[in-house]
Amino acid sequence: LTNKFEEIFSSLKKAASLDENQVDEGLRSIRQALLEADVSLDVTKDFIEKVKPKVMGQEIIRSTSPGDMVVKIVYDELVSLLGESNTDINLNAVPPVPMMLVGLQGSGKTTTTAKLAKYLEKNKKKKIMMVSLDVYRPAAQEQLRSLGEQNDILTLPIIEGQLPADICRRAVSAANLNGAEIILFDTAGRTQIDLQMMSEIKQIESIIKPTEVFLVADSLTGQVAAEVAKEFKNTVNVTGIVLTRADGDARGGAALSMKYVSQVPIKFLGVGEKIENLEVFHPDRIANRILGMGDIVSLVEKAAEDLGEENIKKAEENLKKGQFSMEDYLTQLRQMKKMGGIEGIMSFMPGVSKMKSQMDASGIDEKVISQNEAIILSMTKKERGNPKIIDGSRKKRIANGSGTDAATINKLLKQFKMMSEMMKKMSKGNLKGMSDKGIP
Ligand code: GDP
Ligand code: MG
Repeated sequence: LTNKFEEIFSSLKKAASLDENQVDEGLRSIRQALLEADVSLDVTKDFIEKVKPKVMGQEIIRSTSPGDMVVKIVYDELVSLLGESNTDINLNAVPPVPMMLVGLQGSGKTTTTAKLAKYLEKNKKKKIMMVSLDVYRPAAQEQLRSLGEQNDILTLPIIEGQLPADICRRAVSAANLNGAEIILFDTAGRTQIDLQMMSEIKQIESIIKPTEVFLVADSLTGQVAAEVAKEFKNTVNVTGIVLTRADGDARGGAALSMKYVSQVPIKFLGVGEKIENLEVFHPDRIANRILGMGDIVSLVEKAAEDLGEENIKKAEENLKKGQFSMEDYLTQLRQMKKMGGIEGIMSFMPGVSKMKSQMDASGIDEKVISQNEAIILSMTKKERGNPKIIDGSRKKRIANGSGTDAATINKLLKQFKMMSEMMKKMSKGNLKGMSDKGIP
């Protein structure tokens, strides 16, 4: 029986490395996920080409889990492309230090102006004055004034009919009088880029000589946002990007495209309508979001179709110790599949007939095996390590990822619990010892 045990594991030890076909297949899945995350086609193509030689490298061949390795390489590459988390704000000018916000209409400029004012006040301990240069849209100046009033931020008093250039000059003397150390200029936008708008922000830039020009872009507009960024960058010296509505964007692709196309650092994310909903940009979070999109981890694991020698060894050892993890369960499910069902894998174990009837009762057959495999693959590493944390919302995500529903997931969790309890019991009698005694 010990022999059989070893036989099962050794049959699974073959092909512990990724060949080119498998890499190609894995990268196809990643390509799909990037596109689904709204990364533009050009950027996606470029990215895949860049990452392929790294995936084909030695590392992956020697790694114990090739699927995880591919994901790690892709993830690292994404993080490095997205740029560093960067909170530097250039204050290097004679106060009042001028900064301006540009972007299309509705992208969130005015809201972001107030958010930034609050952020700078809190984090740089500076007194801020906000100034609206949007003289075209009715009530645009009033919108900023009211935001200032609600949040205790100084705004330049409105004079109807004044042109942007004159407002700029008035702002500087007002800031001096009020002791404001930074002036944030909110500019007008258009629904699309036009020449008049571009020449106006260029003129404003030349008048105020800002240390920072923030481009505000709506992440929901995805690829369009990237093109917009390029246009703005050609006109003014954009120093940082603020991506708004990140709260409503589960995809994260806009960030990658924007950064890639414009080469301007993303500095902040807008994550809601409230003034405090401004976050410093963290590339790792966006990389996670992008990869989470098509459940890359499971796709690549599937493409690799490889258990990995280490995994098998670990499962073997765990089993002998009576420990049973979700990863072991996954390995076992795959073994079952290869062995053509439950008999093969279970027959070496003591009390197998009892377990078998229990498994039959819970309906484990070929289809269920594949389904359970999909469910475990849709779990994160953390969830596999500690299934207790799988709450309602996690179940929903896992159900989506595996094409099942919460009830099916509950069933699997129950099975898993039952099995791990059984493993524990069996180990008390020592599995190896038992097998020597001879089992049915
Ligand atoms: P502007 O035309 O560029 O000045 O855009 P506004 O600042 O007036 O914003 C337009 C709308 O987008 C407003 O309703 C804002 O509350 C909303 N908004 C701005 N930033 C965000 C954000 O990060 N998340 C969400 N959910 N809404 C935002
Ligand atoms: Mg506005």
